Formats: sequence, C-alpha cells, structure tokens
Amino acid sequence: MPDAPSADAPAVVFDRVSKTFANGRRALADVSLTVAPGEFVSLIGPSGCGKSTLLRIAAGLETADTGRVLRPERDIGFVFQDPTLMPWATVADNVALPLRFARTPERDIAPRVAEALARVGLAEVASAVPRELSGGMRMRTSIARALVTRPRVLLLDEPFAALDEIGRFALDLDLSRLAAREGWTVIFVTHSVYEAVFLASRVVVMAANPGRIVADEAIAFDRPRDEPLRDRADYTAACAAISARLRAAAGPPEAPVDRDVATG
Ligand code: ADP
Repeated sequence: MPDAPSADAPAVVFDRVSKTFANGRRALADVSLTVAPGEFVSLIGPSGCGKSTLLRIAAGLETADTGRVLRPERDIGFVFQDPTLMPWATVADNVALPLRFARTPERDIAPRVAEALARVGLAEVASAVPRELSGGMRMRTSIARALVTRPRVLLLDEPFAALDEIGRFALDLDLSRLAAREGWTVIFVTHSVYEAVFLASRVVVMAANPGRIVADEAIAFDRPRDEPLRDRADYTAACAAISARLRAAAGPPEAPVDRDVATG
C-alpha cells in the first residue's frame, strides 16, 4: 500500500525506485524524485527511458520492485496520449464515466460534468459525440474526464503529441492557466523540449538503459505562462540548456561503421 501524504507533505515522492520487467528491461534504476504540491514537473527523455513507467507507478497502475513511493491514493487524474473516448457516447457521458464508476449519486453528476466541461471550454459541445469534434476538442474531453473527480495530482503522458502545432500551443496555454489557477500538482511527459520548458516549473531529464534521472532544472518564469514567452530570448536559452542536457544524456552520436573493419 502506498503511504498517504499529509496536507503539507510532498504530493508525490519516489525514493530509490527501481523497476525491471520480466523481459529483463531495466525501466527504472534507483530513481528519486520529490514533487511538491503545486509544482509542474515536465519529464523528458529518449524513448524507453522509463517516463511512462514512472507515471504509471505514480498512478498506481504499476508497482515498483524496490524503493518507496508516496502518492495520494485518490485525487489522481491520468490523461493518456490517446483520448480513449467511447465513440458512441456524448462528450458529457464520456466525462461522467469516472463518477459513474465511483457510484456518485446521479443528481451530482450533471453539475460536476458541466463544471469540468466549462473548465476546458467545452460547455457548448456537451451533447456532441467524439467524431464530431476536432483532435484538440477530443483531448480537452479527455482532460475534462480526468478533472471531473477533482484530483489534486494530474499525470499526463504525452497528451498533445498527436495534435498539430497550433492546437498544441493552445492546449499548452490552457493547461498552464488551469494548473496555476487550481494549484494542481502536475507531472507531464513530453518529447518536446519547447513544450517541457513552456509548461514546467521544473524539467526533469531522464536517460535510458537503465532508466534514470540525469538532470533536474528549475524553470523560473512566472506562471501561468503566456504566448509571448515563446518569443523571449531567455525562454529560448532555457530550451537550449535542456536540449544540451538531453543530448548529453543520449551520449555521443554513434560512430560511422568502417565497413572494411566491420566485415573484415
Ligand atoms: P518511455 O515512456 O520513456 O518511452 P517506458 O516507461 O514506456 O519508457 O519503457 C521503459 C522500458 O521498459 C523500455 O525499454 C520498455 O520497452 C520497457 N517496458 C515498458 N513497459 C513494459 C512491459 N509492460 N513489459 C516489458 N517491458 C516494458
């Protein structure tokens, strides 16, 4: 059982967490990370460095082999890369799903769903079905579904990766505003250095084989972030610094193979 944190305790703690899968993959080796309430942490690193595994352990969807994990047992929302909506159900019914699972009294469901949809700007399309929505709106629906239980901790696994850049920028802005206004603790997995830096109060860089943390950088810009930040020189410099950390984590580029030596 995970330990239940008290009100002023860190929201999520990984203390020397390791995880090796049955196929021998060392997804996480000795990972320690403490996330304070209200922090927005972006997790970035090459494919296979254990980002999703770390998030799934935070969500309780996966267990660590060794180490200690401290996380709230409830009050956690999870947003996947794919919106995973029920295609036959309305936006409102999709968002209501976690409340129905939790056997929330039916009279409380409609106002809670309306509140979640209003937060993500989807009040107007409550009775639409997913195929009538744009990709960005489907992702907003998925976020509303994660918010409807009023979580304090929000875990997002590359939620905007499938969107075009304009849609992605718009959702980045919305998420930054919502997270700052509501005081959420967020762990956000992304492959984009620009997105990681734009959103986060802290960027954690991971490396693979085995999955581990190699850098942990504070990002000091005021939150919520705004669109003009994207054009600022200090933002671009922060992105370049994280990019350099990422390249260092990946190691030197592979040397070209000398065919004569390789075959001979
Ligand atoms: P990331 O999200 O950074 O791409 P993952 O956490 O998905 O990385 O995976 C970390 C490593 O663990 C990878 O080598 C991956 O192949 C492996 N892995 C992840 N999930 C499983 C699983 N259920 N079974 C076996 N290996 C897995």
